[in-house]
Amino acid sequence: MAEDKDQRYDPATIEAKWQQRWAADPAFYAADPAETGKPKYYVAEMLPYPSGALHMGHVRNYSIGDALARHMWMRGYNVLHPMGWDAFGLPAENAALKNNTPPREWTLGNIAAMKRQMQRLGLSYDWATEVTTCLPDYYRWNQWFFLRMYERGLVYRKKSKVNWCPECATVLANEQVIDGKCWRHEDTQVELRDLEQWFFRITAYAQELLDGLDKLDGWPEKVRTMQRNWIGRSEGTEVEFGVEGRSEKIRVFTTRVDTIFGATSVQLAPEHPLVTALAAADPGLKVQVTQLIDEQKRAREEGDVGAIEKHGIPTGHFAVNPYNGELVPVWVANYVLTEYGTGAIMSVPAHDERDFEFATKYAIPIRRVIAPAGPHAEEPALPFTVEDGVLIHSGDYNGLSCVAAQKKLQEIASARGFGEAKVTFRLKDWGVSRQRYWGTPIPMIHCERDGLVPVPDDKLPVVLPAQIAITQQGGSPLARVPDFVNVTCPKCGEPARRETDTMDTFVDSSWYFYRYTDAKNDRQPFDPARVAYWFPIDQYIGGVEHAILHLIYSRFWTRVMRDLGLVTHNEPAQRMFTQGMVIKDGAKMSKSKGNVVSPDDMVARYGADATRMYALFAAPPDRDLDWQEDGVAGVSRFLGRVWRLTTKYASPAKTGRGRQISSPSGTSLKLLRKMHQTTAKITLDFEGRWHFNTCVAAIMELVNEIQAADAQLAAGDVPAPAMHELFSTLVLLLAPFAPFLSAELWSELGEDGAVLRAPWPRSNPALAKEDEIEIPVQINGKLVSLVRVPADAAPKDIETAALADEKVRARTAGKTIAKIIVVPAKLVNLVVK
Ligand SMILES: [Zn+2]
Ligand SMILES: [Zn+2]
Repeated sequence: MAEDKDQRYDPATIEAKWQQRWAADPAFYAADPAETGKPKYYVAEMLPYPSGALHMGHVRNYSIGDALARHMWMRGYNVLHPMGWDAFGLPAENAALKNNTPPREWTLGNIAAMKRQMQRLGLSYDWATEVTTCLPDYYRWNQWFFLRMYERGLVYRKKSKVNWCPECATVLANEQVIDGKCWRHEDTQVELRDLEQWFFRITAYAQELLDGLDKLDGWPEKVRTMQRNWIGRSEGTEVEFGVEGRSEKIRVFTTRVDTIFGATSVQLAPEHPLVTALAAADPGLKVQVTQLIDEQKRAREEGDVGAIEKHGIPTGHFAVNPYNGELVPVWVANYVLTEYGTGAIMSVPAHDERDFEFATKYAIPIRRVIAPAGPHAEEPALPFTVEDGVLIHSGDYNGLSCVAAQKKLQEIASARGFGEAKVTFRLKDWGVSRQRYWGTPIPMIHCERDGLVPVPDDKLPVVLPAQIAITQQGGSPLARVPDFVNVTCPKCGEPARRETDTMDTFVDSSWYFYRYTDAKNDRQPFDPARVAYWFPIDQYIGGVEHAILHLIYSRFWTRVMRDLGLVTHNEPAQRMFTQGMVIKDGAKMSKSKGNVVSPDDMVARYGADATRMYALFAAPPDRDLDWQEDGVAGVSRFLGRVWRLTTKYASPAKTGRGRQISSPSGTSLKLLRKMHQTTAKITLDFEGRWHFNTCVAAIMELVNEIQAADAQLAAGDVPAPAMHELFSTLVLLLAPFAPFLSAELWSELGEDGAVLRAPWPRSNPALAKEDEIEIPVQINGKLVSLVRVPADAAPKDIETAALADEKVRARTAGKTIAKIIVVPAKLVNLVVK
């Protein structure tokens, strides 16, 4: 039998109606100015790359942020909930090559399409604050920041080995190389090339970025750990070895200077300047060194120099240990890298795994200089890498503990001028040059006479030329645009050449969330007063894959802005949440696996409310979610039940508006109690636990109880004021999760204001409390019965009830009860002998 049309939940009609109303009122989701007396709440989800369509991962991320934003509005906060577009980047150029569409057109078209999807989903963004990073009104400030950083020595240019993706035809940051492959091209080996590149001196903030992590207790521990490892601080000593018969010195960094008397060789990187000098005078050596360079290059391109088959060659020269004047051979080794540390290491085979392996292979002497601590310790197997020991065979330092020796030897090095204590970091400066078109032009000019000349502020923005022919030739496409390249030098007025590299797109996302607070400002990146009001972000939400890229860069950028006097805080976000992935049939959704679920399809079939609510219901937000269409259908049926029940009882509920509930009993009490319990649970979850899946489940339980009482409701057993309280609270609880249906039902209940601005319901603890509870009774730790007692029963009364229980009496008859343990409201345990 066909359902009566009037009795059918019709999300398409309901959602279209409310979407139109909200679109007609652009201020609906706008934040109030700072003067409002309300406390502020800034929630942001990471902005998407405008690829053309939202995927389910987006829907999940935004549904979490949206539920939170709506809840905070209802809690009376002044909420800033913005959205923007990380709009520069390679796919736009690839699309241009493929479809002959200009990158700008392609990008802006995608933005329009995705914005429509977001609006269709009912996401509560204030579009007046929208930020689009590929537009000059935004990227001019990237250029402005670049110039400020250049003035402060935080930007520099140097020739360096760079990661080059042949597929992207551009340079990649270290962070964008994953196991030797391009982060965007999983099958493409990254190559190394030597190029002049622009760098941001992020290492100047390495210690501060590390220290700051300790205070970020609102961030996931895994993100903090990933950042700590990425920054990679190590403490040690830099020591200078002399070279016998030559003027050069070899500086080595070691974390174990206490083992230096066990150094039996010094190993240099194949591209160490001393090696270059020695090889220049020794053609035989040169051939061998070239081979080591090739081996190293291949290993790096394969992504794992650590796993390289270790080769080395003796140079025939000797280094001088500065502590005792001992001569040790100088080797060149393929596993030592120029750009890490000093490009040279002292090799102590007795106390280092890698050195041991190398020395064994080449029959280099192995000398033990650390003995285990303790009087009767056995001679350990080598390599003995433990730091808990004492020095032997170490001249004047014999008998010192490792730790004491490290300190002592460090002091001697600095006193005698051949070394010093040193802290090193794994973090490298951020290479930001890209030989691509679709990015922020770097605002620098190359003049033959004046060298590097910054573009003056009043000539910003340096605008990307709109129409250019993009080809897959190497080098920057901008270099082939004469109108762009040829400029007059601002200093001398002679013809000069514009920089044609563009900035890494991670520059765009390093500060975009600041711009939201003042998106239209054309005199400054933002008004510092507005940022002072809104920052730090109260809750930032995004994928854990950004833990070491975006989330380190933006912490760096915030500190740079602080040092420029623009902000007064150190960290951009107070709390960070990383949501799990959306998978299907156990695998990440991807076109190649054919398991992609389109949000548009889901919305068309089940409505935006059901799609969003399912994304929150199917798994805890921080876990992976395996998408099941049956589950969405189930949520849709549930929303239909809410709609039918609420519309069915809307009339009596309306008449109860504004009237006091007299002490409820019977069905009223049962339903109101459940309602207050549900309210308490959801409120608590929004305060930090974020188990939105169990929140939705709790609302479902409440609705099940209402449904079960349908006959009593129909019979008028529940007075109108209680009826009103019950249904209006149900709608309020639903509002963060299913905004369209809640808006519809709120108006069905005769409320005229927006549900978004209605106060969040308060749980009444007295009403939420159960009259009676069931307490498990155990005998010797084994469950034997359940007893019903008043919820607030005293331990003595619980004990009495337990002893009076028939099953308990049967099991204890004729035995001795040695002990009775009562955990109020939880458990009784009898110890019986
Ligand atoms: Zn690539
Ligand atoms: Zn000049």
